[in-house]
Amino acid sequence: MTVNLSGKVALVTGSTSGIGLAMAKMFAQNGAHVVLNGLGDEGMIQAAKDEVSAVSSCGVSYNGANMLDAGAIQQMVLDVQTAHGSVDILVNNAGIQHVCPIEDFPPQKWEDILAINLSSAFYSSTAALPGMQSRNYGRIINIASVHGLVGSVEKSAYVAAKHGIIGLTKVTALENAEANITCNAICPGWVRTPLVEKQINALAEKEQLDTEAAAKALLLEKEPSLRFTTPEELAEAALFLCGPGGANMTGTSIAMDGGWSAR
Ligand code: NAD
Repeated sequence: MTVNLSGKVALVTGSTSGIGLAMAKMFAQNGAHVVLNGLGDEGMIQAAKDEVSAVSSCGVSYNGANMLDAGAIQQMVLDVQTAHGSVDILVNNAGIQHVCPIEDFPPQKWEDILAINLSSAFYSSTAALPGMQSRNYGRIINIASVHGLVGSVEKSAYVAAKHGIIGLTKVTALENAEANITCNAICPGWVRTPLVEKQINALAEKEQLDTEAAAKALLLEKEPSLRFTTPEELAEAALFLCGPGGANMTGTSIAMDGGWSAR
C-alpha cells in the first residue's frame, strides 16, 4: 500500500528500534518528514537515522527527549513544530516491560512503566493537539498491546498502562472527532523485537531451552497463528490509519495478535 504523505511531519516516539523504527521507515517511504526519538548510544541512533534516510526523500531528524520527563516531551513537540512547521502524525510508541509477580513488583518499575507506556502519550498528545486543531488535521496512533485488551500474569504495570492508553485513545478520539483528527490504538501480540527477546531469553534460561524453542513456547501459549506479528505488518496498519481508508476510523483498538485476544 502507498499513501501520499508528502508535506506531512511524522513524530514517532521510541523509534530507534523495533516497531517504532519500522513505522518511521514506512512514513518516510511514503513521503513524510520523519522525526525519530528514543534511547540508544550514538552509533545506534545514527544507524536508525541512516536506515530511515535510505528510504526518505523528505529528510529525517532526531529528538532525544526522555519519555520519563514530561517537560522534555512537551518541548520535543514544540521543537518539531518550530523546526518543521507541524506535527501531523504522532505515534506514541515508546515502551518498556518488566515481568514480575505483583507482590514483588518494584515500585520504581511500576512508576517508569506507567510514565513511559502511558503518561508520555498524554504529554505528547496534549502538546501536539492545539496545532493539529488549528490545521484541522491530525493522526494520533497509540501503540498499545494485546495487553490493553486482556491480562497476563506477572505484567501488572504493563497491562495497567496498556489498558490505560486504550482509554486515553477513546477520549482523545471523541474530543477531536469533528476536527479531522483521528486517534486509534494498535494492539500487537508477540513481535520479535528487543523488548520480547528479553522475555524469550528469560524463558530459555528458566526452562533450559534453546532460544528458538523458547520463542515457539511463547507463541504456543498465547498466539493462535503460531507466528510473530512483524513490525512491517504493524507499520502497514499505521500507514492505513494515515491514508484515505482510515479517515473516519477513530477511537478504535486494532488487534494484530494472530487471534490471541479472540480466545
Ligand atoms: P523496543 O525495545 O524494540 O523499542 C522500544 C523503543 O522505546 C526504543 O526505541 C527505546 O529506545 C524507546 N524507549 C524506551 N524507553 C524510553 C525512554 N525513557 N525515552 C524514550 N524512548 C524510550 O520494543 P518494541 O517491541 O518495538 O516496542 C514498541 C512498542 O510496542 C512498546 O510500546 C511496546 O509496549 C509495544 N508492544 C510491543 C510488543 C512486542 O511483542 N514487541 C507487543 C505489544 C506491544
